Amino acid sequence: MERKQKIAGKKVTVFGAGKSGLAVASLLKKFGADVFVTELKKDMEKELEFEELKRLKIDWETGAHTQKALEGKDFIVLSPGVPTDLPLLKGAQNQKIPIYSEIEVAYWLSQGRVVGITGSNGKTTTATLLGEILKEDGKKFVVCGNIGLPFSKVTEDLSQKHIVVLELSSFQLEKIDEFHPEIAAVLNITPDHLDRYPDLKSYKEAKLKIFENQTKDDFAILNSDDTETRFLDSIVKAQKLFFSTQNRPEQGVFVKENELVFRFFGKEEIVIDIDKIRIKGPHNLSNTACATCIAKVLGVKTEAIAKALETFPGVEHRLEEVLTFSGVKFVNDSKATNVNSVWYALESFDCPIILLLGGRDKGGDFTKLKPLVQEKVKHLILLGEAKDKIKFQLGDLVPSSFAQDIGEAVDMAYSKAKPKDCVLLSPGCSSFDMFENYEHRGKVFKSKVMEKKDEI
Ligand code: ADP
Repeated sequence: MERKQKIAGKKVTVFGAGKSGLAVASLLKKFGADVFVTELKKDMEKELEFEELKRLKIDWETGAHTQKALEGKDFIVLSPGVPTDLPLLKGAQNQKIPIYSEIEVAYWLSQGRVVGITGSNGKTTTATLLGEILKEDGKKFVVCGNIGLPFSKVTEDLSQKHIVVLELSSFQLEKIDEFHPEIAAVLNITPDHLDRYPDLKSYKEAKLKIFENQTKDDFAILNSDDTETRFLDSIVKAQKLFFSTQNRPEQGVFVKENELVFRFFGKEEIVIDIDKIRIKGPHNLSNTACATCIAKVLGVKTEAIAKALETFPGVEHRLEEVLTFSGVKFVNDSKATNVNSVWYALESFDCPIILLLGGRDKGGDFTKLKPLVQEKVKHLILLGEAKDKIKFQLGDLVPSSFAQDIGEAVDMAYSKAKPKDCVLLSPGCSSFDMFENYEHRGKVFKSKVMEKKDEI
């Protein structure tokens, strides 16, 4: 069936009226579907986006998902934030109503070469960097997906010439059917979102769906330093290339004598001296190696890759240097919402660290941080809902204090700091106990740091 025919004349419900849900609802309507939107939150009517639904004459409900969402429907589309175990969705499954994720539907209607990037950590950094590399090489491209710009929002603007760099969360991959990236990369798989998945196995399965529809004509880019993604022969049908910062895979990108090297069918090419790469830390070297590997497969010129790597400053809220005053460096890593990211953040510094940790617990195991905390952290400042759990798990390894809010945490950190120390917000938890999202948390941290500087 022609993909567009999957939509025209069909009765469809979109679950979730966030950015992606609203974008896919508009897209479906434009392609001739009869669309209904259901959203759990109340008071959404006030928001501007609903103007678009009104304009397109799309019907909706808020405050609850009701049976109306299933009645007579041909299929259902899920926004990434909607849990797949909702009772109503179980009902849909019993009634054999197909359920698709938003990226699946956008994919039906898109053109161009699709590159999918997933993993527990580093997706946004890698996807953004790849975009910068493509820009440097003069390619037509768009970076979208989990990054804040829904795939459904850009679908209609795409041409065959476009490269679509898609950042994908495991939630977005859960309900795919035909979605088939020409290049699929998995950065790493570490415990995250175990609040949504029963165990690491099901979380891994969701992520690995990215390879499901690939064939031997496609490419899979894998991390040979990550035991969870290294041995995937039984799942991956595509041609495999690896990236590594620790070993030298047969095919792919790795570090050799302080240089980033691309090797393909025995031929080696130096990309850049790693000291020239602007983003720092071992995790960023891994992200850089992945983006480089994808770019090489896409046929990007090596000089363009090197130039982008020299200039790319990183993404806001990811180990972002805010200010240095009184000799103390303040770093905003608000996006570090799991324990693994904190581990990498700590690895990235050689100076004594005053670490701001805590927020809403995502089931993380903070004991994993013990060796690094002992080695690098001189004082822990704990905040948010998870503060008692973290205190319990890390014990009296290093001195610690509790703070009521970020402002107090910044005050405390400054009072404990000496010149050449680093105050690092790398919370290892989600932000929803005190903030709208991690961006909000990062912005509040930055403004409190600025206020502190002005006070002095
Ligand atoms: P994502 O989009 O997957 O959440 P980001 O690029 O936004 O990833 O980075 C989020 C946080 O994860 C960063 O603040 C950093 O501390 C950490 N991080 C980034 N890349 C990696 C990596 N390759 N491995 C482990 N942690 C990483």
